[in-house]
Amino acid sequence: MSEGSSGPTLVWLRDDLRLADNPALHAAVERGGPIVVAFLLDDESPGFRPLGGASHWWLHQSLSALAADLDDHGNRLILRRGPAATEIPRLVADTGATAVTWTRRYGKAAREVDAALKSALTDDGVEAHSFQGSLLFEPWKIQTGSGTPFKVFTPFYRACLEQPEPRHPYPKPHTVEAPDAFPASDDLDDWALLPTKPDWAGGLRDRWEPGEASAHRTLEQFVHGDLADYGDRDFPAHDTTSHLSPHLRFGEISPFQVWHRLRGDLPESARKQAASFLREVVWREFNHTVLFANPDLATANYRPEFDGFPWAKPQASELEAWQQGRTGIPLVDAGMRELWQTGVMHNRVRMVVASFLIKNLLIDWRIGERWFWDTLVDADEANNPGNWQWVAGSGADAAPYFRVFNPVLQADKFDKQREYIRQWVPEIDTDDYPEPIVDLKESRRHALDAYADMRSKA
Ligand code: FAD
Repeated sequence: MSEGSSGPTLVWLRDDLRLADNPALHAAVERGGPIVVAFLLDDESPGFRPLGGASHWWLHQSLSALAADLDDHGNRLILRRGPAATEIPRLVADTGATAVTWTRRYGKAAREVDAALKSALTDDGVEAHSFQGSLLFEPWKIQTGSGTPFKVFTPFYRACLEQPEPRHPYPKPHTVEAPDAFPASDDLDDWALLPTKPDWAGGLRDRWEPGEASAHRTLEQFVHGDLADYGDRDFPAHDTTSHLSPHLRFGEISPFQVWHRLRGDLPESARKQAASFLREVVWREFNHTVLFANPDLATANYRPEFDGFPWAKPQASELEAWQQGRTGIPLVDAGMRELWQTGVMHNRVRMVVASFLIKNLLIDWRIGERWFWDTLVDADEANNPGNWQWVAGSGADAAPYFRVFNPVLQADKFDKQREYIRQWVPEIDTDDYPEPIVDLKESRRHALDAYADMRSKA
C-alpha cells in the first residue's frame, strides 16, 4: 500500500469489529494520514443472509462498544445502511478517501461484492486492499495433494499444522487519526436492531457483554480458569469451554490472537489442554473452507445423495415443542431453553437436540438450522450449517446418519447428576412436565428405515 499519500483511508469493517489485530486498520495506520472507519448494514444485496434476531442484538451492542472505543482513540464510527456497491463509493466521494481497506469474507455473495468493488474503486483511481484477518489459513491454501479441498477434518487439520505458523497479531493503534470533517452517519438506534415489543433480550443482557474488551477478558478468564479442565468439555454442567464463539463470530477477537495466546505463556495446569482447544478452533477453519468451496452450505446437502431423503412433513406442534423446550425429553428441553434464554447452547447438547429433530422427528436439518440462525448469538454462516449437516450425516466428514444419539443415554453419560437439566427444566420431577412427544425407540427405527430408503434410491 502506498505510504504518505494524500487523502484519507476508508477502513470498511464487517465481521472484524475490533481495533487490535485488525489488518485493515493496521494498514491504514501504516499508510499514514486521516482514517475514516465505517460499518455498513446491508440487508438488501441479493445472496446475503439477513442476520437473525439474536445476532442483531449482538451486533448493536458490539457496534456500540466499538464506537466508544474509537471515540477514545480520537475517531468516530460511521454507520451507513445500504449495499456496499453504492455506499462505499458514496463514502469515498464524501470523504475524499484515496484508499479503502477491508478484512476478507468467505461467503460467495460477499466475495462477489468485494471483488466488484475492488475493481470499480481501482478503475476510479482509488486504492483497494483486502487482508486476511478472520481465518488463520486461507481456504485456497489448504488443499489435498491433488489440489482439491479436503473433505475430511483430520487431514485438513494436519495440513494446517504443516503450514508456517500463523502471523503474530498486530498491536492496537494508540490513536486513529481523525479526518478534518466526519461524513454523515446513521444513528445506531435508528437501525432498530434491538427487540422492543416484546423485549425478549433480557437473558442475553444478563449473560453477555459484547465488545472487544470483553472478548479479551473472556479469553484471559478461560486461560487462567477452565482451560485446565477443557478435557471435561462434554459435560454441560461443568461448562469448561471458552465462550468465545460470538466474539469470534463478530471478529471482536481474531483467531490469530486466540492462537498465539494459547501457544504462548500459559499456566502450567492449562498447557496440556491447549492443543485440544486449538483443534476445535481449527474446526471453525474447516467449516469456512467447506463453505468457500460449497457456497450453498445452508441450503444444499453437501452429499447430494441426501437430496432424496424422505423427510417428514413437519408438524407445527412437534416443531414448536422442540423450539420451546417442551418435548418431554429432558436433555433436549434443557438445551432448547438454554438457547432461548442465553443465545447459546453447550456443544454436546447442540448435537443432541439436532439429532432429535433430524432423526427422532425426521424433520429436515435446514429447518433446525434456521431456528439456530435466528436464536444463536454465535450464528455463523459456516459453523451453523456445517454442524447441522454434520449431525444429519449429509455434511463433510459427517457423523454417519445411522448413529442416532439417544438423548436419555446422553443425559445419563454427560449429565449424570442432572444438574444441567435441573437448571433449565426445574419442573422436571413434577406433574407439570410433559410426556415425551415421540417414542425414542420407534422413531429411531423409522429414521433408520428412512435412511435405508434413501440409500436404496441413491
Ligand atoms: P470452545 O469449545 O471453547 O471452542 C472454541 C472455539 O472453537 C469456538 O468458539 C468456535 O469458534 C470453535 N469451535 C468449537 N467447536 C466447533 C465446532 N464443532 N465447529 C466449528 N467451530 C467450533 N459454532 C459457532 O461458532 N456458530 C454456530 O452457528 C454453531 N452452530 C452449531 C450448530 C450445531 C447443530 C452444532 C452441533 C454445533 C454448532 N456450533 C456452532 C459449534 C459449537 O457448538 C460452538 O462453536 C461452541 O459450542 C461454542 O462454545 P465455545 O466458544 O465455548 O467453544
